[in-house]
Amino acid sequence: MSVEEALARVLSFFHELDPEDKPILEAQGQVLAEDVVGRFDIPPLANSAMDGYAVQVDSVEGASLESPRVLGVTGSVAAGHLPDRPVTPGTAIRIMTGAPIPEGADAVVPFEDTDEVERKARGDSLSEIAVQVGARRSANIRPAGEDVKSGQRALEKGTVLRSGEIGVLASLGYSRVSVIRRPVAAILATGDELVEPGEEPGPGGIFDSNSYSLASAVRRAGGIPKLLGIAGDILDEIASKLQIGLRSDILITSAGVSKGDYDIVKDVLAKHGKIEFWSVRMRPAKPLAFGVLRGPDGRQVPHLGLPGNPVSALVGFEQFGRPAINRMLGKGDEARPVVEAVLEEPLYNTDGRRVFARAIVTKRDGVYYARLTGQQSSNLLTSMARANGLAVCPEDVAKKDIGEIVEVQMIDWPEDVF
Ligand code: AMP
Ligand code: MG
Repeated sequence: MSVEEALARVLSFFHELDPEDKPILEAQGQVLAEDVVGRFDIPPLANSAMDGYAVQVDSVEGASLESPRVLGVTGSVAAGHLPDRPVTPGTAIRIMTGAPIPEGADAVVPFEDTDEVERKARGDSLSEIAVQVGARRSANIRPAGEDVKSGQRALEKGTVLRSGEIGVLASLGYSRVSVIRRPVAAILATGDELVEPGEEPGPGGIFDSNSYSLASAVRRAGGIPKLLGIAGDILDEIASKLQIGLRSDILITSAGVSKGDYDIVKDVLAKHGKIEFWSVRMRPAKPLAFGVLRGPDGRQVPHLGLPGNPVSALVGFEQFGRPAINRMLGKGDEARPVVEAVLEEPLYNTDGRRVFARAIVTKRDGVYYARLTGQQSSNLLTSMARANGLAVCPEDVAKKDIGEIVEVQMIDWPEDVF
């Protein structure tokens, strides 16, 4: 089965989850479940864009350095306060940025266009001010509702909440927001050889790294990982530990899906659910099972059975688990950014599968370059740790040479490189 077909089959089992209501800051990265409409004009009142003097344009018409217009200053107003009198012909009110425009004023003249600094230096009172430049009508006045008008849609349903959107919500006075909830992904490692990090490995034991790399990938994709621990290679043990995960939105296991004697995750799926497919034309992560597991109460949960080799597990998650989580989060089919990079070393495809090679992408003089992280065996987890992308060699291409263009899925986009 091709990667595309497998992905389409996987995605057909996932849909956008229900909304939840939560504090705006906790909703970062989640998707708006409904349009956000302003309940007030933002800003609520016309206000000043500068520190200066609120005036009538007519009072300062033709003003220049040589022939300033001297106005009587009748008061001052700061942000958060209301002016206590109007501006009349020949007068001005000192005004700070964000302060409401007094009645009668139709422009704000910034301090720089007056003699305020000189007056202060001389120790003169600010009961008068000389305006040295004429003003256009509405100059430096921010109208009410300029950002958002009352009743207007400010953010559209389906928008991902980033810093800007969270700021907009706060600016509209919302402390809580309705967003699509995050999916819970239950993660189970399988294998007699596995030991929890922090414990003492017995002879032949290795630490369970998949649970942690996958949990971290789930979290980064926006899901909530729930670690179910380790199950030995015994069908009933795997099945009973998976039961605990049946309350989640997706079950993710690692190992037990290839053709070895103890590869029994497939058997669990066959006995307690239904296998959709168990092999994909890709490298790594060819033995990858997908199906639906049934609980005793009839609950059904999609089950992504990733291979055991640590790189395969992560690459398999990247191609199928992350898109499934995106779908549940309401992010549609948002994919990683793909760059076209110049290969700095050859990329081989020995058996007609789509190759996802761990690559390091750099940018030099505006051009992306990709080199591999070294040996591509799927057990070498440190090679994944060094990669920032997966270079893709299509299934029908046997070799990509140095200098050829390769597509790289960027799994990371470090700011210091780009
Ligand atoms: P299997 O799919 O069970 O044949 O496992 C393939 C390889 O992945 C074996 O070398 C396993 O020891 C290794 N492996 C399986 N599960 C994990 C895990 N959770 N963490 C690290 N390595 C694992
Ligand atoms: Mg095994």
